[in-house]
Amino acid sequence: MNELISRIRRDGAISVAAYMDAVATAYYAQGDVFGARGDFITAPEISQTFGELIGLWCAVVWQNMGAPASFRLVECGPGRGTLMADLLRAAARVPGFAKAADIHLVERSLALRARQRDTLKTQNIAWHDDIATVPPGPVILVANEFLDALPIRQFEMTDSGWMERFVTVDETGTLRFTLKAGTPGAASGVEAGAVLETSPAITDFVSTLAARIASNGGAALLIDYGHEKTALGETLQAVKKHRPCGVFETPGEADLTAHVDFAAVAAAAAGLKVYGPVAQGTWLARLGIKLRGLQLSKGKPPAAVETIAAGVRRLTAADAMGALFKVIALAHPSLATPDGFQQDAAP
Ligand code: SAH
Repeated sequence: MNELISRIRRDGAISVAAYMDAVATAYYAQGDVFGARGDFITAPEISQTFGELIGLWCAVVWQNMGAPASFRLVECGPGRGTLMADLLRAAARVPGFAKAADIHLVERSLALRARQRDTLKTQNIAWHDDIATVPPGPVILVANEFLDALPIRQFEMTDSGWMERFVTVDETGTLRFTLKAGTPGAASGVEAGAVLETSPAITDFVSTLAARIASNGGAALLIDYGHEKTALGETLQAVKKHRPCGVFETPGEADLTAHVDFAAVAAAAAGLKVYGPVAQGTWLARLGIKLRGLQLSKGKPPAAVETIAAGVRRLTAADAMGALFKVIALAHPSLATPDGFQQDAAP
């Protein structure tokens, strides 16, 4: 990250968003950072039931779309490719789905693309830096823990009004925050010291996706940790070897993420119907995760049965990932309510 420090010394302080972008690029370029021996573990790496249920969800959406002979099956930020592999295996039980699915992965890290190629070696796959280059046609898109990695801006209320946080370097070469003129454009009556985060990157991503689905048809399923309503508070965090660390501690060697503001996601989905967000635990329970866990356990030794049950518990329990993580679906208005959201529909 010496390059980043030299760049800041030469060109001046950079926004928190520019810092996150630079750090994430360096971080994911390392390749496999997931799992027990990596820095953090994600739902598809905890239990295969996660990707399998999402696969069945996609197959039902596809049928609802009228089972088009060809559609773009897109995943953003596929990590090791585990979710896509589990999704395809489960959805292949629905006749016609596998043949119709034209797979596109949105992934910037070349090292992770190689890892995904390895996991999905029997599939024909196209990679993209951005969803904008995925060719036209109806789309079913999934993304788990992708939005939390997209850059955010941070604003701080001071005695003289809102200022934007920037990242600078002090005389000793240490990264630190500084404030510059800037306003998030909203929120009055806020006390000094309060922090508000916004994510133009998430808004851009969701608006591009929404325009695409509105004109070509389809749906998107976005799963991430975050809050239902826009709220004040600082959520930018760094994690290394499963432990939180300072955001400036080892830039490029720790995973930097922020809570997703689902109200902002919903607001950017112009022209689509928004379902949820629903707590991940609730959504997976509605899709039958317990039953899937039991099916998987059949004929397995007790230790394996315990591992499967522990995985299901971790994904669904409110004190684990079940409540903090949320699921939101953005769908073309012509589609029937997707699975796992019918229960929320107004009576
Ligand atoms: N979905 C996976 C991995 C989540 S980690 C899982 O659940 O295990 C975040 C993923 O998003 C990584 O694959 C990372 O390389 C990718 N990513 C992060 N920022 C990105 C961006 N701006 N464009 C494309 N991919 C990005």
